[in-house]
Amino acid sequence: MDSQSNGNALNGSSGNGSALIFLGTGCSSAIPNIMCLIQPSDPPCRVCSQALSLPPEQNPNYRCNTSMLIDYCPGGDGKHNYILIDVGKTFREQVLRWFTFHKIPRVDSIILTHEHADAVLGLDDVRTVQPFSPTNDIDPTPIFLTQSAMESIAVKFPYLVQKKLKEGQEIRRVAQLDWQIIEEDCQKSFVASGLQVSPLPVMHGEDYVCLGFLFGEKYKVAYISDVSRFPGKTEFAISKSGAGQLDLLILDALYKRGPHNTHFCLPESLEAVKRLCPKRALLIGMTHELDHHKDGEYLEEWSKREGIPVQFAHDGLRVPVEL
Ligand SMILES: [Zn+2]
Ligand SMILES: [Zn+2]
Repeated sequence: MDSQSNGNALNGSSGNGSALIFLGTGCSSAIPNIMCLIQPSDPPCRVCSQALSLPPEQNPNYRCNTSMLIDYCPGGDGKHNYILIDVGKTFREQVLRWFTFHKIPRVDSIILTHEHADAVLGLDDVRTVQPFSPTNDIDPTPIFLTQSAMESIAVKFPYLVQKKLKEGQEIRRVAQLDWQIIEEDCQKSFVASGLQVSPLPVMHGEDYVCLGFLFGEKYKVAYISDVSRFPGKTEFAISKSGAGQLDLLILDALYKRGPHNTHFCLPESLEAVKRLCPKRALLIGMTHELDHHKDGEYLEEWSKREGIPVQFAHDGLRVPVEL
């Protein structure tokens, strides 16, 4: 199952239809965990220790911050719309590796799940995927985010939010973004580069709301990267027994064992998969505790037993979908 999925995924083709491209599938610190390399244990960490000897294309245990690109081709005309979910600390590395590999020439719009470092700290580098203009005279990239994320980003990146130059201030080249506020409400969908997307508010710790996203008319996908609990309305929107079965659930799984206060760990993720009953699930956001190969075998057994295919996603994975 594993080698097959890698074979399909890493063909480096941009393809003609829509596809989901996993730019990152790791936790906030990303994998390899630096301490596993600078102060290696004896025996060394099996997940991190190969990070320097194996190229990332051949190492599904090399994981950047969780992020996904929707390559949306709505018509038969071969026109691509590139919608990026989250722009974390490792964004530049992800662009270098996977935009080149999958022949992605640009980003047409951005959607943010929340304002934590691993979801937004690459925003400065958005300019590297925008046309060059020393006077910033380019079309800004639409970026969809909640009001609370907007407030936090205005503190982290005041120069990306500032509309007008202050008197005497010289122009500096910065990413050009068109900030669009979205609601924390399953019913308040929005349109990003032609794709209709519904927010899925979830608890990411009991004091914090993060957004997942639901999209796709022909093939229904839910993307939930940071969750510790589903509120009732969100659970209804993505469950087979509620609004209808998902074709693909992409879900947070931080550690092998839980519980954790702000994330699902593998047992809660699998329990949620069973309850929501999608046709297929892919797990994201893993720490170095989870080994793509060894724990992947456990998922394979689980999938056979429960009748729902569940796998770990990996950086660079491309899943063709008909949205
Ligand atoms: Zn490690
Ligand atoms: Zn977070």
